[in-house]
Amino acid sequence: MAVYLHEEDLPAGVLGSGPIAVDTETMGLLTPRDRLCLVQLSDGGGDEHLVRFAPGSSYDAPNLKAVLADPARVKLYHFARFDLAAIEHYLGVVAAPVFCTKIASKLTRTYTDRHGLKDLVRELLGKELSKQQQSSDWGGTELSEAQREYAASDVRYLHAMHGILVERLAREHRSEAAQAAFDYLPHRARLDLMGWADKDIFSHES
Ligand code: MN
Repeated sequence: MAVYLHEEDLPAGVLGSGPIAVDTETMGLLTPRDRLCLVQLSDGGGDEHLVRFAPGSSYDAPNLKAVLADPARVKLYHFARFDLAAIEHYLGVVAAPVFCTKIASKLTRTYTDRHGLKDLVRELLGKELSKQQQSSDWGGTELSEAQREYAASDVRYLHAMHGILVERLAREHRSEAAQAAFDYLPHRARLDLMGWADKDIFSHES
């Protein structure tokens, strides 16, 4: 089990088959303004791969894009909406089909309003995740050991949680509703990029 750091693209053939856990780190929350710095991936086998993009990157990453755009590979996220927008804006691919652990959590863990990754990992897996580096500078020339570990840990538990949440969705008869929401996420992310980020177009309110 190791964390691998790659520059500008994923090497070919480093990921096993099946679903891929994906996360991104950016310079901030405004996607068109705040560049994509890092894409983290895990195939669930115990290793994490971090792909870093330099300032001014062309984001010409054919191996990474092929994995993200592969319609045969489910991508596991926690809060897919943000990652899908960043990936589409900077890498130009729709990283679907999607499973979002945050949405699955909201549809099943109706006994709590704590749906953050840290809360979910603690409750479902009994593990403690550090969020200390969340707001750090991902654009620097060197990523610290703490940053690499934090970035890797964000994709480390998504496969295990996916397994549990699939069962919970089935138990509560919400698998179909969840799938419909997952299928909509790339479209929701595009609306964010188009300027409707803060508007709920389904709401009666303007
Ligand atoms: Mn993250």
